[in-house]
Amino acid sequence: MSGDSKEQSNIFYTKTAPILLAECLLSEGKVKSLYRLAEEPEKVYIHFHDKVTAGNGRRVDFPEGKGKVCCLISALLFEMLESRGIKTHYLGTQGLDTLLCKKLEIVPVEVIVRNIAAGSIVRQTTLTEGTILNPPLVEYYLKDDAKDDPLLTPDRVALMGIDPTKMREVALDVNLQFQMLFTLMGIDLVDFKLEFGYDSHGNLFLGDELSPDNMRLWRKGTKERFDKDLFRKDEGDIVEAYTYILEEMRRFV
Ligand code: C5P
Repeated sequence: MSGDSKEQSNIFYTKTAPILLAECLLSEGKVKSLYRLAEEPEKVYIHFHDKVTAGNGRRVDFPEGKGKVCCLISALLFEMLESRGIKTHYLGTQGLDTLLCKKLEIVPVEVIVRNIAAGSIVRQTTLTEGTILNPPLVEYYLKDDAKDDPLLTPDRVALMGIDPTKMREVALDVNLQFQMLFTLMGIDLVDFKLEFGYDSHGNLFLGDELSPDNMRLWRKGTKERFDKDLFRKDEGDIVEAYTYILEEMRRFV
């Protein structure tokens, strides 16, 4: 755990955020927990743990400071997207490792945008790592760990009762905004994952987090990584790499 927080059997305290109580816990993800607000049913706290997992939770580590850096990068990117007219669940931060967000009903589809071939697309196709994908590729995956998040077709998404068109449109817009920022930072945005959800009025919002846990970031023109592949491949310190990204981002956002 980080130095500014303490966990005791589901009761979570931080110095900087309000006390988050076990009875307010809505759900626990692999590296984040979701708490409801007693008086405000339309809002949630998303607390980022000092935790990283890979291989669908099969590998785990607890790097100090990781929750904070992912939370702060997410906050910065959500604020940037909001300022460019993209609707997100972000409302603000509570302390350094917790986001205050609109409560959403999450769409069980992960949307991945790829600008450069890496990861699963290299393992599953004839494309070689580093191949430029222009126009970018938008893909849909089922959000279901028990089924290992299989690749979906747009028609399958539609059969699930979800219109993929709007998510695709927003994902490509996010890609443009991210690419402008990362280009300034001297970083190639290889790929990233987005999640969406509906508010109680049926409006679609961008949800979840936006951090190097869910992106591939390479130093421009190289394959030097600043993302979770460092942990997946046991190649370096993710907190150091993510902190570099946060500091560079602060120069341009
Ligand atoms: O594994 P794959 O190459 O398909 O991942 C593409 C991108 O989506 C990577 O940036 C990865 O970190 C992200 N991703 C994610 N959550 C998943 C699957 C992929 O954040 N469940």
